Amino acid sequence: MNEYDSNRIYDLASVIGFKKTNTKTEADCFVLNTCHIRKKATEKVYHEIGRVKKEFRNLKKPLVVISGCVAQAESEEIMKREPYIDMVIGPQSYHKIGDLILKHERKKGKINETEFDVVRKFDELEKIPNTQNKISSFLTIQEGCDKFCHFCVVPYTRGPEYSRPFDQIISEAQDLVKRGTKEIVLLGQNVNAYNYKNQYKLSSIIRVLNNIKNLKRIRYTTSHPRDMSEDLILCYKDCSKLMPFLHLPIQSGSNEILKLMNRKHDREYYISIIKKLKQINKDIKISSDFIVGYPGETEKYFKETIKIIQEIGFINSYSFIFSPRPGTPAAEKELSKTNINEKRLKEIQKVLDNYQYDSNKKYLNQNCEVLVENKLKKQTKYFGRTKYMTPVIFEADTCSVGELINVKITSFNRKNLFGIYKINKIKAA
Ligand code: SF4
Repeated sequence: MNEYDSNRIYDLASVIGFKKTNTKTEADCFVLNTCHIRKKATEKVYHEIGRVKKEFRNLKKPLVVISGCVAQAESEEIMKREPYIDMVIGPQSYHKIGDLILKHERKKGKINETEFDVVRKFDELEKIPNTQNKISSFLTIQEGCDKFCHFCVVPYTRGPEYSRPFDQIISEAQDLVKRGTKEIVLLGQNVNAYNYKNQYKLSSIIRVLNNIKNLKRIRYTTSHPRDMSEDLILCYKDCSKLMPFLHLPIQSGSNEILKLMNRKHDREYYISIIKKLKQINKDIKISSDFIVGYPGETEKYFKETIKIIQEIGFINSYSFIFSPRPGTPAAEKELSKTNINEKRLKEIQKVLDNYQYDSNKKYLNQNCEVLVENKLKKQTKYFGRTKYMTPVIFEADTCSVGELINVKITSFNRKNLFGIYKINKIKAA
């Protein structure tokens, strides 16, 4: 979502005359669009500001703007800790960036803008074209979350659930396709909770997108198991452009930990959703997020997480040690021992890596459908992705970016597939 927001921030800044520069020291303005999901992400902000300060030591100071969730959650603190910062803008107020920059030009004072103004944000954004022209483009359809998992800052930094107007989304999707997009990734913190006026759901958007002529693939992320409704599951049967790959975070395989996390689902419910999906489409594969070392996690509970990984066989998953975020209920709890958490993280990653490796191994010597995303810089090779998002690097006599092609896989590692693409030439008699 930050990538989508960063692009839109650029679209807004270009209205008042800003252009991107590849030479850092030429910049008049830096916007650091930030993430607050883990502590490490916050610290990166200060490191980056440190670098900017150093590079501009003998130059005119640029305007420094911090946007995104760190700005929302720690606006006062970051202004105090780093006086080099001129402006903080929360994720629901970035549509004002042009006006705020002009205001700063006039008055020169520090600006702190962290209002939750999500309705106006999307109304304003609708007036400015989304200039993404990538083969695979993000499209935000929903923001915020009402689930309040005890470890998560999103409900505090992005605010309550908000669904964008249905027509606004469809028109943005059509524009993206006109600009050359072949794959749309629908975004939301709780994307499958999308509900516009009790009339349109995520499945309604997918069904319309499925009929857009030059669009080839549809994905969505991130989903909550509780919102995997029947109508959405049915899309995996009816909509050929919806990819058979779903990122569905479970976080833990232990019902006791899921309860402590306030996840509002248990392992049995999660498994029942996967069963339904596989009944509808046997090719579906699932990825997930796992938090290791959540306060209260015993060895028994941890082993239950390993067990569910073995039961479901997740691919392309993410795992992290619990990171307490200030202001969330879990931040008040006693932390588990670091050495135990590190050991568990290694163990879980080893199991996940093995599934990933085995999944990639199955492609060896097979033809695999790839959406070509770009040609690699200074190389003759191309880059694309499978239906399951696995990166594919391949040689080709000739091929076009944006094409769906069959690549013969000749080797692999845990993360990537490697192959060759040859157009079959029919020999003249
Ligand atoms: S459902 Fe997702 S975004 Fe919402 S609180 Fe839980 S982890 Fe955060």
